[in-house]
Amino acid sequence: MEETEEEGEVVGMTDERAGPTPPIPFELIAEHTPYPMALVDQKGRYRFVNARFRELFGFGADEVPAGCEWFDLTFPDEEERRSAISLWKEDMGHGIDLEPEPRLFRVRCRDGTDRQVLFRSIALGTGDRLIACEDLTAVLERQEALEDLNRRLSDIIEFLPDPTFVIDANRAVIAWNRAMVELTGIRKEEVLGRTDRAYAVPFYGDARSSLLADRILSDRDDGELGSYSALDRQDGTLVAEIFLPAWDEGAGRYLWGKATRLLSSDGTPAGAIESIRDITAFRRAEEELRKSEERYRALVESINDVIYAVDDQGRITYVSPVIQYTSGYRPEELIGRRFFEFVHPCDRAEVKRRFEELVAGGEGPHEFRMIDAWGGEHWIRTYTHPIEVDGELVELRGVLTDITEQKEQEAAVLRSEALLARITDLSPFGYCVVDSDTDRFLYMNDRFCRIWKWEGLCDELRRHDFLHSDFLAWVAPIVEDPAAFIESGAILQDGEDAHEVMDEIRLCDGRTLWRYSARVRDDEGRSIGCLYLYKDITDERRQVEELKRYRDELERLVEERTQELTRTNEVLVQEMAVREHLTRRQIESEERFSRIFDQAPIGMAVVSLDDRFLRVNEALCRITGYSREELLEMGPFGITHPDDVAEGRALTKNLLEGTSDDYSRDKRYLRRDGTVVWVHMTVGVVRDPSGHPFHLFSMTEDITAQRAAEERLRISAAALKESNEDLQRFAYIASHDLQEPLRTVISFSQLLERRLADQADPEIRELLGFIVEGGVRMQTLIRDLLIFSRVVTGGRTFQTTDTNEVVSDVLKSLGASIEETGAEVNVHPLPVVLSDPSQLHQVFLNLIGNAIKYRRAEPPTIEISAERRGDDWVFSVRDNGIGIEPRHHDRVFEIFQRLHTSAEYEGTGIGLAVVRRIVERHGGRVWVESTPGVGSTFFFSLPAI
Ligand code: ADP
Repeated sequence: MEETEEEGEVVGMTDERAGPTPPIPFELIAEHTPYPMALVDQKGRYRFVNARFRELFGFGADEVPAGCEWFDLTFPDEEERRSAISLWKEDMGHGIDLEPEPRLFRVRCRDGTDRQVLFRSIALGTGDRLIACEDLTAVLERQEALEDLNRRLSDIIEFLPDPTFVIDANRAVIAWNRAMVELTGIRKEEVLGRTDRAYAVPFYGDARSSLLADRILSDRDDGELGSYSALDRQDGTLVAEIFLPAWDEGAGRYLWGKATRLLSSDGTPAGAIESIRDITAFRRAEEELRKSEERYRALVESINDVIYAVDDQGRITYVSPVIQYTSGYRPEELIGRRFFEFVHPCDRAEVKRRFEELVAGGEGPHEFRMIDAWGGEHWIRTYTHPIEVDGELVELRGVLTDITEQKEQEAAVLRSEALLARITDLSPFGYCVVDSDTDRFLYMNDRFCRIWKWEGLCDELRRHDFLHSDFLAWVAPIVEDPAAFIESGAILQDGEDAHEVMDEIRLCDGRTLWRYSARVRDDEGRSIGCLYLYKDITDERRQVEELKRYRDELERLVEERTQELTRTNEVLVQEMAVREHLTRRQIESEERFSRIFDQAPIGMAVVSLDDRFLRVNEALCRITGYSREELLEMGPFGITHPDDVAEGRALTKNLLEGTSDDYSRDKRYLRRDGTVVWVHMTVGVVRDPSGHPFHLFSMTEDITAQRAAEERLRISAAALKESNEDLQRFAYIASHDLQEPLRTVISFSQLLERRLADQADPEIRELLGFIVEGGVRMQTLIRDLLIFSRVVTGGRTFQTTDTNEVVSDVLKSLGASIEETGAEVNVHPLPVVLSDPSQLHQVFLNLIGNAIKYRRAEPPTIEISAERRGDDWVFSVRDNGIGIEPRHHDRVFEIFQRLHTSAEYEGTGIGLAVVRRIVERHGGRVWVESTPGVGSTFFFSLPAI
């Protein structure tokens, strides 16, 4: 226990603050350690064992024998036991400084089981030893199992057919199999354990890139493929291909690689395994296959014929693209469909029967019709053969050719051959073909025999055993000139240059034959025979001669007639020239007439003698409101107002009877809209050169507006006349009847004035003076009005009047005022005119009176003269008075118009109005020229006698 205390110092804990604590007893510690422990003294006696020791070995401290007995008991293996004893003894000799190695032994426990236990022997200062054990049985068993597994895995890798290697997490090579050695030529020893990745070099040469194993281990996913292709990445596995061009002396090699990451049980990467496979042969084969397929396809698709394959049901499984040109269908539209559906309905049954034969093993060509995508018909030829694998029909393959054109040509040839045969039979020529080498007949038609009257010989000739020279000899007796005939027959045989000859042969029986001989050559110009055409032209000859006679006779007659005709013709030519000239003129005049007719602003019509419109112009349509067609239908009397028809017919009758050549009248048409239109119409008769009327021509003018205006004028003139008469009546009555009471008023006023002269007051006298003065003025006014109104009503008939006398009278009656004013009146010689003398007197009286009245301060000077102007005499009365402003020159002639008040100049404003009325009654006119402050000249005209 002392040692224990000492030991306790070793293992005890020191707490300086609390002071030294008592040491923990060794047994307590040992009891609770997880390892089996024991204390052994120098004599090998077990002084203490802990619970774990007891558990392991099954012995308590007191049950364990001391010394070598312990070894005998627990070490079943002789050798191990000896070694353990010697080691133990050696340990016992060691001091405490030397720590012996832990040692593993197999021990047998009390329960008989063997265990692998690791012993550690530690020398204590007391000379005792502490034995610490560790039961490694389970660990070692596991390790052994693992090693066993590893071994087996290595074996598997070793014998894998693909080159395979494994690297650990540090990229050290830990496996390198035989196939790898074979592939690379690098031995296992050279590479195992190396971490410098040198192993990569021989694989990839110049195309070096990180190995798949490297990539998968570092889990690089940078998308960089480098030299790899077809990279396939799955979780923890990388599959890729690489082509190494330098390998196999430049032929290159394809390698396929698969790398898989190896994970330890905690999921961390423990390494990677990469398998490589040489797929060069596979790739080459694949490439070859692709190329040959391409070649095959190009071949199939480049030929014009269609290649196809169908299954045993007739369904199309392949068809080359050229089918499109033949059928209009694209291959994809055809694949899967049964080809019978494209076969012409008439050929379908036969094609199906044939197909069954093919399915049963037959093969060969077949021709039938197919329908294309547009409904067109094609003749095609197929050559089909079955493809069998292991005796089983797989499909039918074949070639399809469009032979439509060929078929058409064949048909054309057949047709043309048939045609030729038919032509041959129908030919009017007898012909034969002779082989120039053999001199044999190759062909002749029936007519040939008939011409020579050898119907019986035809068959013999056709058998080709009859020579041409025989033929010549045969017919020589019936030819008129045999020698010439025989000789001529040889023309073509001798003369190589002669290609064709035509001649005539006369026969003894009087017939004439026409012959055509020609050399027949092939396409290359080689002579292959001679063709002879014969025609019996006896009848033709006769006819020709007959004809010739007729012709001569005819020619003579023709000659005679020609001379006659030439003469007649000359006359005709002259006539034609004249006629042509006339025709041209007629056409021109027609054209002119048409233009005028159509464009005239007045209505025009050509009317037949039986009262039909033959032609009407646009203006007539406008006037009547009818269309041209309607007018032609209705005729002139169809549109005439019923009241005007009778007169029209009568006038037309006159024209036709020649009483007159034309007439004009106003008449009415009934327009289409029912309204009446007044027209002024002129109708003329058109006569032919012999004077016979052949139609009428009418011109029509719409005078409705004119008529209306005239009517209005007539009405207003009548109204005016009436009102004028009323006015004149009124003026006359007024002036005449008013005079009497006025005279009474004046005379009584004057009487009153005289009576009251002395007594009355001056104002009354003045008023009476006004009454008298007003009355006198009214008297004057009434007188003047009477004069004015009488100008028309009281006018007398005109008579030749000497104006000199009239003026002289006037000056006499004005004598007082002339004298009073000192006026100088110069009268120039005046003419004799046709007039109402008293009215002419009034004119001069008023004009000379005014010249005196409207004087200036100085005495008036008055010039009276007359001048001839055309058919008129123009009289003038000139003064030097006050003059009139130009704006009043017209106004002064109007009644009651005055320029002054009565206070300035006495007057009524009627004098000049009377002058104008009288002058106008005489067919003349009156006007004034005046300058204010200088004087006025009044002019009036009268018609000269
Ligand atoms: P009355 O003389 O009675 O007024 P008239 O009819 O004779 O009427 O003349 C109309 C007007 O014309 C006159 O009032 C006068 O002003 C003007 N007149 C006529 N004659 C002359 C003249 N010779 N010189 C100037 N003025 C004249």
